[in-house]
Formats: sequence, C-alpha cells, structure tokens
Amino acid sequence: MVKAIVGANWGDEGKGKITDLLAETSDVVIRFQGGANAGHTIINDYGRFALHILPSGIFYPHVTNIIGNGVALDAAKLVKELGDITAQGVPQPNLIISERCQLLLPYHILQDTYEEERLAGQAFGSTKSGIAPFYSDKYAKIGVQVCDLFDEPRLRQKLTHALEIKNVLFEHLYHKPALRTEELLSELLAARELIRPYVGDAVGFVHNALKENKTILLEGQLGAMKDPDLGIVPMTTSSHTLAGFGCVGAAVPPTAMEEVICVTKAYSSCVGSQTEPFVSEVTGEAGDELRRRGGDKGEFGATTGRPRRVGWFDCVATKYGCMVQGATNVALTCLDVLGYLDEIPVCVGYEIDGKVTDVFPTTPKLVKAKPVFELLPGWKCDIRGETDYAKLPREARNYVDFLERHIGHPIGIVSTGPRRTDNAMRK
Ligand code: GDP
Repeated sequence: MVKAIVGANWGDEGKGKITDLLAETSDVVIRFQGGANAGHTIINDYGRFALHILPSGIFYPHVTNIIGNGVALDAAKLVKELGDITAQGVPQPNLIISERCQLLLPYHILQDTYEEERLAGQAFGSTKSGIAPFYSDKYAKIGVQVCDLFDEPRLRQKLTHALEIKNVLFEHLYHKPALRTEELLSELLAARELIRPYVGDAVGFVHNALKENKTILLEGQLGAMKDPDLGIVPMTTSSHTLAGFGCVGAAVPPTAMEEVICVTKAYSSCVGSQTEPFVSEVTGEAGDELRRRGGDKGEFGATTGRPRRVGWFDCVATKYGCMVQGATNVALTCLDVLGYLDEIPVCVGYEIDGKVTDVFPTTPKLVKAKPVFELLPGWKCDIRGETDYAKLPREARNYVDFLERHIGHPIGIVSTGPRRTDNAMRK
C-alpha cells in the first residue's frame, strides 16, 4: 500500500521528520517531485541533517529509497549529499535513481539566475536552483532523461538541440556567454559515472513491491500553496506538490494510494518573495520572537538560510490545503514552539471586500484578504518531547481540537519536538 506524506501549506511543515518517523515501518520511500531547492531537516541518532534531494528514508538500512521520475535530478548535488551523509556515519543507503528521471543541467541553473537578475525587484524569489527552467524544458520535450546518459550519440544530439535554443536566450536576452555542447557532454559523462551504481528501473521495482504487499511512502516537497495549479499562482513552484501527482512522479497506481498524511505546523511559515500574499503573517517583534523560537533552530530556510516569514495558524489556507491534498490524516508539528504565549491568535477567516469567508480564494482576491483572528488561551509551559497525548496541558489539547474543527480533517499525529521520537499519537 502507498501512503503519501505531503504539505498542507507553503512547505517546511516538518514532512522530513514525519517521513523519517514512518519510514521505520515502511519498505520503500520515494521522492516524486521537486528538486534540491528545499530542505528537510531530520534529527535522529546519527545527528542533524538537512536533506535536499535524498529521500528521508535513507537512515534505515531496510528501506529502499527512490528518486522518482517526477524529480528534477541535480546529479552533482545528489553525489555531494550522499558523500556528506556517509561522512557523518550513516551507512551507504539503498538508493535507486529512476532511469526515467530527468536531469537538472547546468544551463537550467544559469537560466534561473539570469532570469532573476533580469526581473530584479519583480522576481518570484526563486532559489536559483534551475527548477523552473528544468520543468519548462521537460514539458517542452527538450529535457534529458537519466537513460539518455547511457547512449552517447543520442545525448550529444539532445544537448546540441537544447543549446541552439538556450544560447539564443543567453546571448541575446541575457547578454551572457554561449555554452558549448562538447564541454557540457563531458561534464555529463563524468556525472554519469558517479550515479551509475544507483540508476535502475524504478517503475518495475515499485510495481513488484506493491505485488509483494510492501509499504511505500511518498515524500512530498513544499506544500499545497506552492502547487502550480491549485496553489497561489504564480508564486508557486514548478512541479505539482499534491499527493495526486505522486501517482505520476513515483509511478504508483492511483488505486494503491490508501493514506494521505498532510503535515501542517501549529503556526505558519513561508519562504519566498516578500510580495507573496501571506494573510496570517506576524511581523515586528512578535514575528521575530516566533521566528527565533520556531522549528528546531529558528525558522530559517534549510537550503538557503533565508529567514522564513512567520504567521499564526491559518485555518482557511490549511483547510483548503488538506482538501486538495485529499488528507486522510493530519500531522500537526511544532506544537511545543507555542508554549511561551499567554494567548495564541488563530486565523479563522479572511475578510475580502468587507465580507468574511473561510473559503480559500484565488490570487486576485487573496491579495486583498485581511485575517480574522480568534484568541485561544496558551498553556505557558514546555511540552517538548511529550509522547503521551493525555498528558498535554488542557489548553494545548483544546488548541488541537479547535484547529481540527476548523480544518475539518482528523489530526492523528501531534509532534512535540524535532527529534524522531517527539510525538504524541492522538488517534
Ligand atoms: P520539511 O521541508 O517539511 O521537511 O520541513 P523542514 O525540515 O524544512 O522544517 C521543519 C523544521 O521544524 C525543521 O527545523 C525541523 O527540525 C523542525 N521540526 C519538525 N517537527 C518539529 C516539532 O514538533 N517541534 C519543533 N520544535 N521543531 C520541529
């Protein structure tokens, strides 16, 4: 059976931690979309890790980890990350890179960087990892699959064709130097040798695993708000962040997906451009304090180090996020972070043009939305690491009940700290 672990919000909800937790009782963990442009923080017996491209099951020797065909594979970053984790004492992981996966190439990173420069102040806040140009090329059918690396004439021909287009852009739109096929080819052939041991038929592997009744986890990157169709368009990422896309990006049949675990934090955080609408944002000193206390080391991007914008829990966005993800169960993370507050504001509605709604709107309306807050009593104590739900203070349990009622999806896992074991199971 297949379980997807996906984000209800803007990303950074704590999916890595939940995946690491559930991987213990799973056989396969698959990344199905996105690239190395976001990070998952995991704290376990081996130490603290910020994974960018490797699936979060790599700490378990019994788990097969797959980089699915839906991922944007930056081979250099993958090899570096593998080197980094094994240097920290993690055993060599079981890893399969789908031969159908496409490669994020150096020109994607250049194009992303040049385009952000060109847009200057109006940029979308890209991490300049090449993700948008990568997916554009994939859908324009000029991408390079991992399997192409093993057919040199085909690879040369594909690169030559792609560079004809890229070089026009580079020289004439961005006024930058052109790239040469032969140089790129030799770079890719070198990368091929580094990833060769891991490349395989992930599609066949996944279908066999399902026949053998194995448990497969799909690990999403970013969250519902960043989906290019159902998210806050155009401030989204370029691949689908929804569990439904897991069927494509991990090659699992839709009928095999039995659970969708939607992860959300007990407050909000959002990376990206300042121009993005973020209705329940807290700024000023209150925001600085929440940012400092958030996550395991403050709310700063795991990949970029950028300070994340923070806000109070947003019921409107989270209800919508859980709905479009098809959540069967919600994991609420970082509840421990809120223990310093006397009262905790929760955004229960948006006021748009004088009317209050709890329906998440499209972008032209979202930019006008003002938050409607309700204040809940805080619990004023440290609950970090509590594993018995019944032992949480009444105010903390009431807070969870309140959120559950407003988002309309059952909260089953309450995470009370960043470590693998810091969880209180509710149902
Ligand atoms: P992901 O991309 O969804 O995996 O999320 P990130 O790893 O980018 O961000 C989540 C942050 O919250 C990380 O710093 C985690 O270590 C931390 N974290 C996860 N769960 C908890 C929790 O229950 N309490 C606290 N204090 N931190 C948590």
